[in-house]
Amino acid sequence: MNDATYAAFSRGIHERHFDKRAPMEVSIEVTRRCPLECLHCYNNLPMNDAGARRNELTFEEHCRLLDELVTEGCLWILYTGGEIFARPDFLNIYTEAKKRGFLVTLFTNGTLITPRVADHLAEWRPFAIEITLYGATRETYEALTQIPGSYDRCMRGIRLLLERGLPLKLKTVPTTINKHEVYEMKRMAEEEFHVEFKFDPLVNPRIDCSQSPLEVRLSPEDAVALEFFDPRREAEYRRLAEYDVASPTGTKLEEGHVYACGGGQRSCALDPSGRMSICVLSHQEGYDIRQGSFHEGWEGPLREIRSRQRTQTTICSRCRIQSLCSMCPANGELESGDAESPVDFLCRVAHLRAYTLGYEVPEHGDCNCCKPGDVHQGLLESAERIRKQVSGPSHWVSGTASVSGLNILQSSSGCQSGSCGSCQASHR
Ligand code: SF4
Ligand code: SF4
Repeated sequence: MNDATYAAFSRGIHERHFDKRAPMEVSIEVTRRCPLECLHCYNNLPMNDAGARRNELTFEEHCRLLDELVTEGCLWILYTGGEIFARPDFLNIYTEAKKRGFLVTLFTNGTLITPRVADHLAEWRPFAIEITLYGATRETYEALTQIPGSYDRCMRGIRLLLERGLPLKLKTVPTTINKHEVYEMKRMAEEEFHVEFKFDPLVNPRIDCSQSPLEVRLSPEDAVALEFFDPRREAEYRRLAEYDVASPTGTKLEEGHVYACGGGQRSCALDPSGRMSICVLSHQEGYDIRQGSFHEGWEGPLREIRSRQRTQTTICSRCRIQSLCSMCPANGELESGDAESPVDFLCRVAHLRAYTLGYEVPEHGDCNCCKPGDVHQGLLESAERIRKQVSGPSHWVSGTASVSGLNILQSSSGCQSGSCGSCQASHR
């Protein structure tokens, strides 16, 4: 199926099922174990973590789950981790999914892809494979992954997949360590590997509540400067801002559900031990499918979580720049433990996007980013520096590649996490 035919097919399915609540897209974390130790990662565990390994669903449990997903009407499966190939039996699980006819996307770091793995994927072709790059050079890549030799193993994995004509895409998570190489990674992807490339500059805290990834998170100014270095990306934000700010009423969150995304409505996630949740980033509540069935979890706890109404009026309730903001319940949970509480970092990034585009943000309560809030003036100064390009990628490295446009992970409100398959629809 070519891209246009597939896009029409996917659009048709989503339009036909627009009103229906069904788990059409399911993200399955097969393990949290990973051979890399990336400083920004939100969920990785060591390869030799025996407790984590013991808790993982067995091959037989995965097969039962797949049978249930057929019955429930699931079409798209995303296998993610940790590192999916850290499980020696992953290809067996994957093949069972393929035999049942699912459109399967694989998220991997590529370092465990061998000729045997690549041959198997060529025989049982996935819908898509996305590899995360951590740097364009060995030095930067391994400064983030902290594992010597991982850069060469990743490059080998990429080549093995490309030699077999597999549907590969590359992406990155910009951090303080690799930000200067983001556009070089794009050049490598497009000019050397001839594949698509995308990035999302928002790093999340770990799901075990550790804030350690935030040590390498970009500042709001660096994050927005990196995005706006790409004229196409800036134009897309302008389009969203024009629509949002010009809207006569704005979105009224106080009248709506806590979850306004596809999580729990068209999608959900399962962690390595079979705990079902709204998405891979949302972990406060869920259902253990080992105690019952997928159907019971989807129709019981997940339906209840998804239909829950907001209980608070916050500065988000009347905010008119929601489409520029990645604030969502999972991000609220991860940053403060409260799904409804605005995340200060995301709020600053969204306001800075608006100010850089030259928009005033309409009044929406006691917002620190709006006049006369504490950080308002600083954001205006950041916006000016970004507009004049006195900060940003061209100052991080000499000879920065010219920009022809990066793909946008998400062009509407909601999470922009590179790890969440539930809302970014990267597998569609
Ligand atoms: S976090 Fe801030 S910018 Fe984002 S929706 Fe809430 S008020 Fe708006
Ligand atoms: S991460 Fe995505 S799927 Fe999860 S709550 Fe946020 S917007 Fe929804």
